[in-house]
Amino acid sequence: MTAKIISGKDVAQEIRKELHQEVLEMKEKHNVVPGLVTILVGENPASVSYVTGKQKTAHELEFHSIQDNQPDDITEDALLELIDTYNNDPSIHGILVQLPLPKHINEKKVINAIDPDKDVDGFHPVNVGRLMIGGDEAKYLPCTPAGIQELIVRSGVQTEGAEVVVVGRSNIVGKPIANILLQKADGANATVTVVHTRSKDMEGHCKRADILIVAAGVPGLVKPEWIKPGACVIDVGVNRVGEKISEKTGRKIAILKGDVDFDAAKEIAGSITPVPGGVGPMTITMLMKNTVKAAKYAGGIA
Ligand code: NAP
Repeated sequence: MTAKIISGKDVAQEIRKELHQEVLEMKEKHNVVPGLVTILVGENPASVSYVTGKQKTAHELEFHSIQDNQPDDITEDALLELIDTYNNDPSIHGILVQLPLPKHINEKKVINAIDPDKDVDGFHPVNVGRLMIGGDEAKYLPCTPAGIQELIVRSGVQTEGAEVVVVGRSNIVGKPIANILLQKADGANATVTVVHTRSKDMEGHCKRADILIVAAGVPGLVKPEWIKPGACVIDVGVNRVGEKISEKTGRKIAILKGDVDFDAAKEIAGSITPVPGGVGPMTITMLMKNTVKAAKYAGGIA
């Protein structure tokens, strides 16, 4: 059997089209334009590239968007003040502070300073709590797990009653995707197991999974023989395993691999995400979705 390849690029494109339509309608009917600020402290190349991608997408969707670059020696107090300015700016509905921050700044304090109603990353403890409660309470789902759920649902994989195994328990991927899929809701209602470095018999758990979500950051961690034939495999891992010269640009680029051996796994799984081009493109898209949601709440449209 050769698995169906779940293309994050295609699904992300589909959702972006829907969002663009919503943005145009909001503008026309309610005179509301979603506003997003991305705050970048310093010039970490990976962070610059993430923020550039977010701004590019916001422009494509015709948001009001601001890229706010701050030097890496900005004080914690000055950053907190800046966040407060955006908290009080009615043209801004979503605030994203690109992580990681320099060591002299306490990330928790910064995340906690963002107005939970503008926390489109979904990392504020209030939004984490809302997700845990679920239903109408859940406001902004964190972007990567929300993207994973969209990939599963839009590729027609049944979650109701499914055995889901999540490898990894981080606050940004493992725990929230487990929470999302166990909710009493459409696109969820799954039986969820979470495994990590202290789990016994990881292989046995993985083998039972109808939906296997791997977010460990260890290349090739999940062996092909751990995959149940026909299962849906979502590989969240992004691991730089070397460098190559890009045929397009002639520049050095990273060789990326997931946490699953894709070539072998696709002969066993029913559907599978590639790396790159699977979960990756969904994260920015879900940030845009949260910002549209935030603008709707603020504009009384939701
Ligand atoms: P993280 O914070 O390092 O967490 C990794 C988790 O995996 C931990 O819970 C850890 O267990 C578990 N783990 C690590 N090695 C393991 C092993 N040998 N056996 C079982 N469990 C193991 O990582 P993260 O932020 O969740 O990210 C995970 C991966 O996803 C990374 O490759 C990251 O680059 C990628 N990622 C991709 C996107 C995207 O948009 N595509 C977004 C976020 C992350 P313990 O808790 O026991 O240590």
